[in-house]
Amino acid sequence: MFIISAPSGSGKTTLVRELFSLVPGLEFSISYTTRAPRGSEQNGRDYFFVSPAEFERMLAAGAFLEHACVFGNYYGTAWSFLEDARRRGRDLVLDIDVQGAAQVRERLPEAVSIFIVPPDRDTLAWRLKSRGEDRPEVIAQRLGDASREIAAYNRYGYVIINDRLDESVEKLEAVVLSERARARGLALEPRWAALAETCRQQNAAARLAPVLRSFGLTAEETGRGETRS
Ligand code: ADP
Ligand code: 5GP
Repeated sequence: MFIISAPSGSGKTTLVRELFSLVPGLEFSISYTTRAPRGSEQNGRDYFFVSPAEFERMLAAGAFLEHACVFGNYYGTAWSFLEDARRRGRDLVLDIDVQGAAQVRERLPEAVSIFIVPPDRDTLAWRLKSRGEDRPEVIAQRLGDASREIAAYNRYGYVIINDRLDESVEKLEAVVLSERARARGLALEPRWAALAETCRQQNAAARLAPVLRSFGLTAEETGRGETRS
């Protein structure tokens, strides 16, 4: 299982889409949410859109591997998705927030977690603006939330700084291929293994320092992102 988290606007959707076009055998976990569909989103493809009452019912029935309240809406990953992917021999990709990631790590310690960050705050602001989906006040809120979320980066096994898109796609692919090879006891081309190693959180500290600074964070302030409610 691959957990991928990122502050909104970092490029997670773009990277995950590229990953799926390059690596076979992956399955995307479609979450349940109480938020309303946006734009061209479709029920059962992007999310399962459910009422708060239905979400509560599923929660009480123990249907969720993890769940969280994000931007005022509930989101959850159904156990059934994991079970189905296992049956089909596929690796599941979870696009979830830092709170959900913490729950999954606790329940499934073998899950591989990847955190995607933008190169700096100004770039994130620009990407959010140029995506053209959010009003200025929503963008301001997302930028504030980004600092809190980025503070949780050190709970993740891998960190990818999404600067140049082609390089980031390659890094994400390298992490997935190398972890898959490890889990299955297979050999991997040294080039891929070496690229994945550079993305290990412990190996990314020097490259991350300026990113953290741009969000007004220091290394000491990190690790708190999962405590927000
Ligand atoms: P997220 O899913 O993290 O909210 P998106 O994938 O929607 O982010 O990306 C936000 C915006 O940034 C989109 O307009 C996307 O095309 C653009 N983008 C993503 N990655 C890069 C990159 N490496 N360089 C430049 N623009 C990017
Ligand atoms: P959006 O509403 O913009 O699609 O997603 C908002 C946030 O909710 C993103 O950070 C996304 O990763 C997170 N999210 C989406 N699905 C889930 C889920 O099932 N569980 C958790 N914990 N977070 C989710």
